[in-house]
Amino acid sequence: MAYKALYRTYRPTCFEEVAGQKHIVRTLQNAVLHDKIAHAYLFCGPRGTGKTSIAKIFAKLINCEQNNEKPCGVCPNCIAFQQGTHPDIIEIDAASNNGVDEVRELIEKVKYAPMLGKYKIYIIDEVHMMSAGAFNALLKTIEEPPAHVIFIFATTDPHKVLPTILSRCQRYDFTKVGMKDMLEAMKRILDKEKINYEENALRLICQLADGGMRDALSILDQVIAYAQDDIQTEHVNDIYGIITTDEKIQLLEMVGKKQVSELMSKVNDLNNRGIDLKRTTMELIEILKETIIHDYTHDVNLLQICTEDQIAKAKIDKTTKARLKMIDMLIEAYDKYRFSSSVSSYFEVCLLNMMQEESDVPVYQAPKETTFILDEVPVKRMNEPEDVKSIRIEKPKPEVKEEIKIEIEEPIINKKVQRGLENSYVIRLLVGANKKNKADDMQKLKYLSEYYMNPHWAKYANLLRDSKLVASGDSYMVVAVDNQAMANEINELDSNNEFGDFMEVLLQKKKKVFGITSSQQTAVIQEFVRLQKLGELPEPVSFDDEINQVELVTNLFGEGNVTITED
Ligand SMILES: [Zn+2]
Repeated sequence: MAYKALYRTYRPTCFEEVAGQKHIVRTLQNAVLHDKIAHAYLFCGPRGTGKTSIAKIFAKLINCEQNNEKPCGVCPNCIAFQQGTHPDIIEIDAASNNGVDEVRELIEKVKYAPMLGKYKIYIIDEVHMMSAGAFNALLKTIEEPPAHVIFIFATTDPHKVLPTILSRCQRYDFTKVGMKDMLEAMKRILDKEKINYEENALRLICQLADGGMRDALSILDQVIAYAQDDIQTEHVNDIYGIITTDEKIQLLEMVGKKQVSELMSKVNDLNNRGIDLKRTTMELIEILKETIIHDYTHDVNLLQICTEDQIAKAKIDKTTKARLKMIDMLIEAYDKYRFSSSVSSYFEVCLLNMMQEESDVPVYQAPKETTFILDEVPVKRMNEPEDVKSIRIEKPKPEVKEEIKIEIEEPIINKKVQRGLENSYVIRLLVGANKKNKADDMQKLKYLSEYYMNPHWAKYANLLRDSKLVASGDSYMVVAVDNQAMANEINELDSNNEFGDFMEVLLQKKKKVFGITSSQQTAVIQEFVRLQKLGELPEPVSFDDEINQVELVTNLFGEGNVTITED
């Protein structure tokens, strides 16, 4: 028998099986019990937090013939729903049906009375993906809905939903699933599957999943495939290259005790194990945050990451104020990673700086041989504690003209892209794009989330996570992201030919990916429309010949910075 993914097998079929969101479930149950059902609901929240599951169970409950707080499971309505054949509960995935036509069809059918149940219930998933035209068509129905119609919208992006729709919905905000609920749900499943587990391994999975139940189960699937019927902490570590909470606390303790050489060899060790130090930085912030929450509340029930014992250690005998300052330092380091080719250097410097935070014993004599090599930066020697404070990464002096060697077959570009793509170039990319390509890519991009946790592709998938597809050509796509640093990172990876393989996996087609910022997108589209009116649109970019490879690189780096050397 083919293996069925856990999140499919254990999709909740009743409210009790939904992890977390108890407050929402309670409210919805009461609405049904007291016959106070609204005509439109909006379920907002991060992915994998149970929006669609709850929407479905709620729909089943509304149409159940027993007016109870749970669907009875035996009436004709419940049975039809369980068989997936209920004619009045209609699920629409707006991500794939974003056209006006589909919504028109929906609205056509809205006026007919329900066939089997009391209500016709439309569950519209990813409602923010609907086109503006489709939204407007829908709006008319929501303004004056027939008495027998209920809409349940679900979205990860409520700010993209039209305000006119928002104002007509009863809104429910789904929260990330907490550690406790998630652990409970995983244990229930593992017990059913008769699989042994170490509690700490499950805690690690929770951390990786970051509040998304679906993600947690996908990770669990991978771990089971690897570990078979006995899940140990080291299995999760092996697969995901992650660092345990104890290890992270150990890092903090080394900071607290100013154990410089131990700390440096620990960071080195993490690096060798392929640990993502960016993520580790974020996790140290989370742990310190938890110590501060504990300072103020002394409530162990509020702890999501640490156990009570761990929290005591994680406080590393520092004041709340000192630990808050450390959080600031870690956040600052995290910001800098975007622009750095060596995360570990910044990470080390940050930890060293943290050592200086309100220490009671100010004198620390580092061994004479301790040196810090900061990635192509002059070697510094630390003898005095003051030096620790003054260590900064020094940027090499800018050269007047940077020489980049270009090989036409595979451009090797190791220099940082300092600025974004030229508007004129992006316009030419838009000229070469078409709607069909975009629709195709959009369809495939829906599966992006399946790669967020994939050890091999996570880097690329997560970079595209919050991006918006702007346009697609035959051999490329243009995406908009929040800031220039992210756009640059995308362009840089793409020019290193790294994105192509991921695109091949995701789209079954090799494509280049160009990143621009959202504000650039607005500017470029305005200019595109202006030129189109004037009939002055430029030629599209062609990626077929050698000359254009050069043109592409010139565009990424600016003309003055590129010299082509012939081999
Ligand atoms: Zn029923």
